[in-house]
Amino acid sequence: MSARIIRAARGPVLRCRGWRQESLLRMLENTVENGERPEELIVYGALAKAARDWPSFDRIVAALTALEEGETLIVQSGKPIGIFRTHHRAPLVLMATSNLVGRWATGEHFWELERRGLIIWGGYTAADWQYIGSQGIVQGTYQTFATVATEHFGGTLHGRLVVTAGLGGMGGAQPLAIRMAGGVGLCVEVDAARIRRRRDTGYLERDTRSLDEALTWVRDALARREPASIGLLGNAAEVLPEIARRGVIPDVVTDQTSAHDLRVGYVPAGMPADEIARLRERDPGALVAAARASIAEHVRTILHWQSEGAVAFEYGNNIRAEAVSAGVDEAFKIPVFTERYIRPLFCQGIGPFRWVAISGDPDDIRQVDDLVLREFGDHAIAANWIRLARAHVQFQGLPARIAWLGHGARTRLALLVNASVASGALRGPIAFTRDHLDAGGVAQPYRETEAMPDGSDAIADWPLLDALLNCASGADLVAIHGGGGGYAGYYQSAGVTVVADGTEAAAARLDATLTGDTGIGVLRYADAGYEEAARTARASGLRSLQPEVNG
Ligand code: NAD
Repeated sequence: MSARIIRAARGPVLRCRGWRQESLLRMLENTVENGERPEELIVYGALAKAARDWPSFDRIVAALTALEEGETLIVQSGKPIGIFRTHHRAPLVLMATSNLVGRWATGEHFWELERRGLIIWGGYTAADWQYIGSQGIVQGTYQTFATVATEHFGGTLHGRLVVTAGLGGMGGAQPLAIRMAGGVGLCVEVDAARIRRRRDTGYLERDTRSLDEALTWVRDALARREPASIGLLGNAAEVLPEIARRGVIPDVVTDQTSAHDLRVGYVPAGMPADEIARLRERDPGALVAAARASIAEHVRTILHWQSEGAVAFEYGNNIRAEAVSAGVDEAFKIPVFTERYIRPLFCQGIGPFRWVAISGDPDDIRQVDDLVLREFGDHAIAANWIRLARAHVQFQGLPARIAWLGHGARTRLALLVNASVASGALRGPIAFTRDHLDAGGVAQPYRETEAMPDGSDAIADWPLLDALLNCASGADLVAIHGGGGGYAGYYQSAGVTVVADGTEAAAARLDATLTGDTGIGVLRYADAGYEEAARTARASGLRSLQPEVNG
């Protein structure tokens, strides 16, 4: 295993033939820099990788360094395949990652192909170089808890206990998001190193190995109605049932362990690390069975709390499906966060839009913050968030910001930023991108597209059309992703990055791409029957060809 340490380049020196290429290269480096296990190129989600292996990484870097305008680099599951002459409005990079033909899209096939070095899982944002650390997910997590507060608790989580588990790359955003929403978060995590990392990066306030101590801190914070984030070292499958046995009922319960993968993700209760490693090598079936048995206990506790009045939801980690496989038939009584709390935003094309300062200068992000507050002050979600993020969220890697903006607003902001790059007000280009968990970018029948009103949950045409449209719009990078590991066969998604380098060509790319990427999301939800989406389409002048949308 290599001990290489990758840090994204900063500053004004170009290694590539243009800022478009240099920006994508820095996005790749930044993804590895922010990764949970960078020495293995693993970024988050237990196994999501930035590149196939180190030789592939090096060849991608060399290809990006040599890539000319009017050429396109092709990457298949993290391995560079070739460079084609295309044209100046074409994407610089096109990728397809972890896509398997339907009938073969199973964990079993995925792992066999992975073992043979033919495929990787790219997560949503790892293989397409869009990961920006836990800061990329924290607004979405905050948005979820803030909506829970509005719907169930009169607008605030003050004096409310949220129990969850998993403090990894994405789950690590939970303690900070819960605290920002006013609540007390008790977050169970089995790996002490992850707890340390969340403390070091300011996401978690304090931690303990003692359940007694954790519950004392919880009671104190609840009594004072003070926000708090508490990490507890332990296995959720043991600790949660014990908390329940003591008669504690949280107000809210969810989970972000890596339950989507039972070979490398979810840790079975009571199993020492060396035994896990041995089974992973010698008898993965036994490891999966042990993890499933633990998940059954874990989910039964969540269901028990739900029946006692707790607000329970799955955070998209597939724990309900695994629980059903383990015999917990009623696991799907737990709703999924997207369908329950986020979908109304998707109907307006609002989702996890983000931007990265390629210069590495935090002041570039502060200037864009000011721009958002000045130009989008009436956009409550984004303006509120920028103020909160400035106060609470540390930068990780290249300075970056996320703000949930919607159709129209994303395009307007990006064009203003491009003009600021052109005028020299910003030190360098800004790369605009988004999570795949967005209106247009994904079909995931157990998450983003669960319970669509027209039953179109599993139709993968939408993210594929989104990716094609992004290519036609001239985005700088376009990727199509499928699920891998335990997620194999569970979703299809599309990722996109466009660089604001201050040129007129960039303005044209940003305009077409960001308008199309959000617009197709709005039309997708309108097509499924959401009146809110149809209203957004009409109000923004989207040229829908659906009579029921046009009214
Ligand atoms: P990760 O692999 O980086 O972290 C998972 C964490 O869970 C690890 O720290 C691991 O030690 C811990 N863990 C595993 N088993 C445990 C157990 N039994 N008890 C306690 N802790 C345990 O993964 P991540 O990037 O944080 O993602 C977590 C899950 O959330 C994934 O399944 C991901 O797909 C899902 N998810 C998150 C979002 C989001 O918006 N945050 C959206 C969709 C899905």
